[in-house]
Amino acid sequence: CGIVGILGRAPVAEQLVDSLKRLEYRGYDSAGVATLEGEHIERRRAEGKLKNLEARLRAEPLAGHTGIGHTRWATHGKPTENNAHPHATDRVAVVHNGIIENFRELREELEKKGAVFKTETDTEIVLHLVDSYLARGISPVEAVKASLSRLRGAFALGFIFAGDANLMIGARNGPPLAIGYGKGEMYLGSDAIALGPFTDTISYLEDGDWVVLTRDGAVIYDKHNAVVDREAIKHSAST
Ligand code: GLU
Repeated sequence: CGIVGILGRAPVAEQLVDSLKRLEYRGYDSAGVATLEGEHIERRRAEGKLKNLEARLRAEPLAGHTGIGHTRWATHGKPTENNAHPHATDRVAVVHNGIIENFRELREELEKKGAVFKTETDTEIVLHLVDSYLARGISPVEAVKASLSRLRGAFALGFIFAGDANLMIGARNGPPLAIGYGKGEMYLGSDAIALGPFTDTISYLEDGDWVVLTRDGAVIYDKHNAVVDREAIKHSAST
């Protein structure tokens, strides 16, 4: 039930987990992180408490400087490791809070086109939708933009992409999602508390917004895909 993302200048796995700990108050049943290891997406996930995920990371560390993390409160599919986020293909990884209401019809449509689903989650439809555009050579930004227009329901989403360590995309329609501004680093998170250790300057996305993050900054779009400004505020949740 929490999302975090970091475009960092050093390995981010530990920071992702620290940030997820600050979101524990929301409740969760499983957790996971995905990072870019070179060009490739790698994941570590675990049922239960964050200490289980930490044990997985100690056994098989991740070194990537670009990553997303998630605590899950299962709504569709049991709280197993396989259903835990991030979900990933060779091209893209996604974390999601909320519910995709039209996932059944989208799943049917994509299965007809050959997509193979591996989990019981509603979230996996978002993964395959974006992946289907990427497979056709469409850019990550255009792929997410096209996918968002097809989703119904409540979501906060975070994406990273294989082969692009300087890109992260977020989207909000319902559950809160904030972006954090660092020095040569950028962050995505469910709230100011999650981002407290990293930065005191954040902007909350509004419903229908989506954001393209690089280490240079953020470009925020509204539900009509027009570039918008969202006020940067100072917060004091840094302890
Ligand atoms: N509906 C998604 C799932 O069950 C996301 C749940 C959440 O918000 O953590 O996997």
